Amino acid sequence: MTLTDLAIVGVGKIARDQHIPAIEAGGQFRLAATVSRSGGVAGVETFDTLDALLAARPEIGVISFCNPPQVRYEGARAALAAGRHVMLEKPPGASLSEVRDLAALADARGLTLYATWHSRQAAGVAGARAWLSDKRVRTVRIDWKEDVRVWHPGQVWIWQAGGMGIFDPAINAFSILTEILPVPVHVTGADLRFPSNCETPIAAEVHFAGPGGMTALADLDFLYEGDPFWTMQVETDGGTLTLSQGGAVLDIGGAREGEGWGDQPGIHGEYPKLYSQMYDLVQAGLQDVDTRPLELAADAFMLGRRIEVAPFTDPTLAKD
Ligand code: NAP
Repeated sequence: MTLTDLAIVGVGKIARDQHIPAIEAGGQFRLAATVSRSGGVAGVETFDTLDALLAARPEIGVISFCNPPQVRYEGARAALAAGRHVMLEKPPGASLSEVRDLAALADARGLTLYATWHSRQAAGVAGARAWLSDKRVRTVRIDWKEDVRVWHPGQVWIWQAGGMGIFDPAINAFSILTEILPVPVHVTGADLRFPSNCETPIAAEVHFAGPGGMTALADLDFLYEGDPFWTMQVETDGGTLTLSQGGAVLDIGGAREGEGWGDQPGIHGEYPKLYSQMYDLVQAGLQDVDTRPLELAADAFMLGRRIEVAPFTDPTLAKD
């Protein structure tokens, strides 16, 4: 197979931890260049700006955006306008309207836009979806709790408007929820806890409703110490299903599927599947842009009651 040349924009935590290893292992793409303010990847040509890359490297057919959501739209638009296929980290943008605009442009240009949701690739998710397909869901409880100081050290953007705060990880839960439920859900209310010095919430409680009296509750916390707690429990007329470890382990009535994380909490295995899907989408000339997880997060912001809590200081930034 001839490798397709691909460039990464934004070489930060997720690009280094997941994207680059997945591209190297996948056998579909070659990392041909990066756009990076901080030096990029050793041995790979680095550009200071995306415009410079688009002008200099017309053979690079796919651009994968791994930069924060607030700064992704302009670049993604420029890449599509220059005839390149585009892959977006989650959340696909800082607003729904900008994602819709990108999808329309990709459509008009006959290009692939792939709004990835890596958690949907976790080992237990497909099984959960299949089992729930003929069940009547009564309640869902989501607990998405992690320590921001461990998982997002030094990430100033997450506390700035558009960075979403706790909804940056919680949108992974929403991506699983919208993937596995056989019915749609909508947000009915939320309590959002904003540190007095931050523009985004550090914790939240989100309430949802669905058909037939179904309810759901998401308890989200960015100050949870210890191993992350990324769990979803779905009660149905046919029993209870639990997805834990971010969707890696599925438990139905005591029967367990999936190997979980072992000693290393993480998301290994999800990114190779994303790149494989990107390759298939490009070959087929298709798009994949599902905004439902972003809609739920946006609705939580729209309906949420704002509660001010103690200021948050990232210890990795608090240097003398
Ligand atoms: P990060 O470590 O802060 O990296 C983002 C990179 O984007 C930076 O290193 C920088 O790379 C570039 N960048 C360009 N403009 C920037 C700006 N104004 N502010 C900060 N960085 C800027 O963030 P990340 O954790 O990789 O997250 C990036 C995206 O991936 C987010 O949408 C996040 O939700 C998603 N994601 C993260 C994780 C995770 O566990 N961290 C997991 C899944 C998905 P250069 O220096 O190379 O320009």
